[in-house]
Amino acid sequence: MKNSLLEQNLFAKIEKIVKQITPQDSLSSWYDWRWQIKNTIRDIDSFELISGIKFNQQEKAEIAKTVEKFPLSITPYYLSQIIVDDYKNDPIFKQAFPDPKELIVSSADMEDPLSEDADSPVKGITHRYPDRVLFHISNKCAMYCRHCTRKRKVGDIDFIPTKEEILEGIEYIKSNPVIRDVLLSGGDPLMLPDDFLDWILTEIEKIPHVEVIRIGTRIPVVLPYRVTNNLVNMLKMHKPLWINTHFNHPRELTNDAIGALDKLSDAGIPLGNQSVLLSGVNDCVYIMKKLVRKLVQNRVRPYYLYQCDLSMGLSHFRTPVSKGIEIIEGLRGHTSGFAVPTFVVDAPGGGGKIPVMPNYMISCSTNKVVLRNFEGIITSYQEPDNYEHKYCDKNCDECNLYLKLEPQEKTEDVGIKKLLFDSNEVISLVPNDMERIENRNNV
Ligand SMILES: *Cc1c(COP(=O)(O)O)cnc(C)c1O
Repeated sequence: MKNSLLEQNLFAKIEKIVKQITPQDSLSSWYDWRWQIKNTIRDIDSFELISGIKFNQQEKAEIAKTVEKFPLSITPYYLSQIIVDDYKNDPIFKQAFPDPKELIVSSADMEDPLSEDADSPVKGITHRYPDRVLFHISNKCAMYCRHCTRKRKVGDIDFIPTKEEILEGIEYIKSNPVIRDVLLSGGDPLMLPDDFLDWILTEIEKIPHVEVIRIGTRIPVVLPYRVTNNLVNMLKMHKPLWINTHFNHPRELTNDAIGALDKLSDAGIPLGNQSVLLSGVNDCVYIMKKLVRKLVQNRVRPYYLYQCDLSMGLSHFRTPVSKGIEIIEGLRGHTSGFAVPTFVVDAPGGGGKIPVMPNYMISCSTNKVVLRNFEGIITSYQEPDNYEHKYCDKNCDECNLYLKLEPQEKTEDVGIKKLLFDSNEVISLVPNDMERIENRNNV
């Protein structure tokens, strides 16, 4: 009863918005994603008119100044989800509408905190991890999220790269046989025309060493009507394709968003979700628990929870890292294991994602480890007495396990893994600017 009344209100609200924006159109235009894009709200006056929210002169001046630096773009659909009476606390409003606090420059702010540009061998590609790349194939977004990590690029003229530009990236992937996973990102890849995206996916699939393709998109959250039958039928032809979406708050899982997720799932596409921890939006154990439960209920696996990056203009959104740990503490054990995302800090300077979590191992001896569970029970696990260490020098012929590494698979290890490798001569990793070590070399 309560629900249907809400629905009625929503339809009335939608009809009113459609009439305000395009008096000649009917309610059905709303569900046309092209109408949504064409009528994206990009200035304060239109926002006031359509939302019914009124700012005073001073507020308006401050918002205008903010928009000059970080432009505004909100789909009518996402705007319709704002609770107008309490907009200042509304998580939808906060993610979509500029806050003058974006102009505050914090001492921690960085232009490109993840060094995505520095780790870019060719335009559009960020190659940071040994076996996978990030491929920016679109500069367009349906909505400009206020917490965008690539805020530096938001509002650069929206463009769709040419086939030639995309081919440069594809050539890079082709000529690097180590790349087995390609993450399409942007902007939003689902802002590309179906046939162009189809072409990109087809070209990447032709590369024999690419085993999996992923798309990172916020379309199901901010423009669910873009998930058309045509789009889904096209995506369905590409295997194996994974999609990661970006829900931050349970209220974003509207019936229409759920409809889009259903279509993608029914097409056999595995869905994940990456949330960003945002002050005043979802920095609450109970909100996050509601979010992850609603996600798995709709066949979306919570993948990552990100600590807010150090990009310019995000200082008001940042929480301490400890908030994320507190949230994971409140999820692990308390709800389904597969509903618990991995909390990560994307290392400033381009170190990649670093998982952080509560400590579950309390102590250990040579034959026991002491662990604690989510309830506070402290337990001990007796280690095996007779485990025989299997010396490994990647010589599979000498080993009784069923793995026969091909010569090209015997690549050199990096990082801590390298220290753990049995037949490696490296016994320590040393920072490259250590005076003590440099002096040693000079002797
Ligand atoms: C996040 C990211 C990836 C993918 O990381 P996964 O942990 O495999 O999801 C790859 N490249 C870059 C540059 C990234 O930022």
